[in-house]
Amino acid sequence: MDFQFNSEQVLWRDTVNNFMDKEVGREYTREHDESREFPEDVFKKMADLDWLGLLVGEEDGGSAADPIMFAIFCEAIGKFSLDTAACIMTSMFTATNISRHGTPAQKERYLRPFLRGEGKFSISISEPDAGSDAASARSTAVLDGDEWVLNGNKVWCSGAHLPNATIAILARTSQERHAGFSIFLVPNTSPGLHIKKMNTIVRKSLGTTEFFMDNLRIPKDALLGEVGKGWFYIGEHLELERLSIAASQVGNARTALDDTVRYTGDRKQFGRALSSFQVLKHRMADDETELEAARLLVYSAASKMARGERALKEVSMAKLFCSQTAFKIAFNGMQALGGYAQLPEYDMERYFREAKHGMVGGGSNEIQRSIIANEMVI
Ligand SMILES: Cc1cc2nc3c(=O)[nH]c(=O)nc-3n(C[C@H](O)[C@H](O)[C@H](O)COP(=O)(O)OP(=O)(O)OC[C@H]3O[C@@H](n4cnc5c(N)ncnc54)[C@H](O)[C@@H]3O)c2cc1C
Repeated sequence: MDFQFNSEQVLWRDTVNNFMDKEVGREYTREHDESREFPEDVFKKMADLDWLGLLVGEEDGGSAADPIMFAIFCEAIGKFSLDTAACIMTSMFTATNISRHGTPAQKERYLRPFLRGEGKFSISISEPDAGSDAASARSTAVLDGDEWVLNGNKVWCSGAHLPNATIAILARTSQERHAGFSIFLVPNTSPGLHIKKMNTIVRKSLGTTEFFMDNLRIPKDALLGEVGKGWFYIGEHLELERLSIAASQVGNARTALDDTVRYTGDRKQFGRALSSFQVLKHRMADDETELEAARLLVYSAASKMARGERALKEVSMAKLFCSQTAFKIAFNGMQALGGYAQLPEYDMERYFREAKHGMVGGGSNEIQRSIIANEMVI
């Protein structure tokens, strides 16, 4: 069994990491977090490098990367901020849906501009009373002549307010629990759609929104794929999505731990470097060990998926363990940096905020445990 990347994977890892160091970096990330600005120029540069199409089929202008190459990408783009990673990754899964199930006209209208960096996607599943239990969502879509009429209230829709964003909205076309959902592609400028930004302490660059659909009328051809298949389409890429979140958490935790090691090496108290105190040394050794275990879970799940095998349990284990590890490392980093951890310019408070959200977003840790337990036939 080989635990090493092959030469193509090493080259890819180094290429994306170099891009992140040169084109993004710490200051840029911090500024965009503070100003709540989307990293437009980075998004466009990634489009120019054809990276936005990693999960899009070659026949639609993408590169159909395998799950290992995709995990390498996500680990690297999460290195400074999970928010930056989300700015890129969030659109990618709807692009995959359109590539797989969209009409030629939908691909022309939405997919092509996205691949050029001129359009974005957000995905709207959650509602005020439908979070972990997403299948209890109540927003409706009713066909009226040549138009669908949408009504309801959605929350936590990341990136829905951004310029040129199209929202993939999950709405009920019948009352069946799962087979009652369909997906609609709705430009965010559509009349009848009222979007309000939410004042979150995470995902500040991507931004998160609540919106109301008040007799929102969209053409019949806004339906993605078939009526009643929405839940299935979202489920199709759930494993890849959770894998991507886990991989970006590993990348971010790596930076948080490196920052802690550097700070405790430089900072002197009682005439010694903080890192010479055994209590701190051992804590960092534990963090290093758990981070390596987290990484291995990511690439073990990715390898299974790359072999074409189902990896529901493995991906949930990776997401559960990586989010816990990222949070623990950021928590320990906050302690090790003492008072300085409270200053944004030390970045640790951002890692800490974002790692906490990582235990809820993309399916909470309790839900991941339930999935793992179900797969164990408990
Ligand atoms: C910043 C941000 C961005 C987001 N972006 C999007 C987005 O773009 N699109 C979108 O559709 N959604 C998005 N979400 C929503 C996200 O997916 C939900 O927050 C998540 O699914 C949890 O739902 P909830 O917040 O309603 O919590 P709840 O479901 O109310 O859960 C609250 C707590 O109860 C626990 N719990 C719930 N059910 C169980 C159970 N059966 N067993 C044990 N424990 C349980 C949960 O684990 C959690 O700890 C975003 C959320 C945030 C905060």
